[in-house]
Amino acid sequence: RKLFASEVNFVKGVVNMQGLPPADRPEIAFAGRSNVGKSSLINALFNRKQLARASGQPGRTQEINFFTILEALYVVDLPGYGFAKAPKAVVDKWTNFTQTYLRGRTNLQRVFLLIDSRRGVGDVDRGIMKVLDRAALNYQIVLTKADKLKKSELDKVIDDAVVAIKKNPAAHPRIMLTSAEKNIGLPELKAEIVALL
Ligand code: GDP
Repeated sequence: RKLFASEVNFVKGVVNMQGLPPADRPEIAFAGRSNVGKSSLINALFNRKQLARASGQPGRTQEINFFTILEALYVVDLPGYGFAKAPKAVVDKWTNFTQTYLRGRTNLQRVFLLIDSRRGVGDVDRGIMKVLDRAALNYQIVLTKADKLKKSELDKVIDDAVVAIKKNPAAHPRIMLTSAEKNIGLPELKAEIVALL
């Protein structure tokens, strides 16, 4: 419980490998398309209003943001991917850094890959899943904005996600269903995080 209460501190925004904080504690990372609801989910999970900045300007956030929980865990907010408007050079740069970070981070326990329930798993998501598989990283799909869909629609999105990860060896088999707005699935996601410590 306490882990998700109030002792959450922003550590730093990092733009290159030299800037990474020492890998001296367990770490989890959140990834997903721009506008997937990543900031909202991180803020809802850790009871903070403005822990992760909501994406006012898609394409601008290139930093990997580090937070620490009770000094015991790093929570990492990865740059959103899939911006149409960001200049190619910028996209390449953050993609490069993010991939290098993902490949080399020894304390990284799991990447939570956020997918908008309304969009389902897209081509860009599949590309990211390949990167995670190649890096042999443990990752888990988290469907966001579940409040936007009916039960039957959610069932279909979950089925599609199950199919999408079937051949991906590094993917966690359990698909999480969440809504930051309606507090759906947050206790379950917290339990997943606690189990990693
Ligand atoms: P980010 O770009 O991934 O950080 O996405 P944000 O957290 O900024 O959210 C993008 C948009 O989706 C905002 O308009 C949010 O209000 C909305 N949003 C985020 N989470 C939810 C949710 O659980 N339910 C609904 N209905 N909307 C959400």
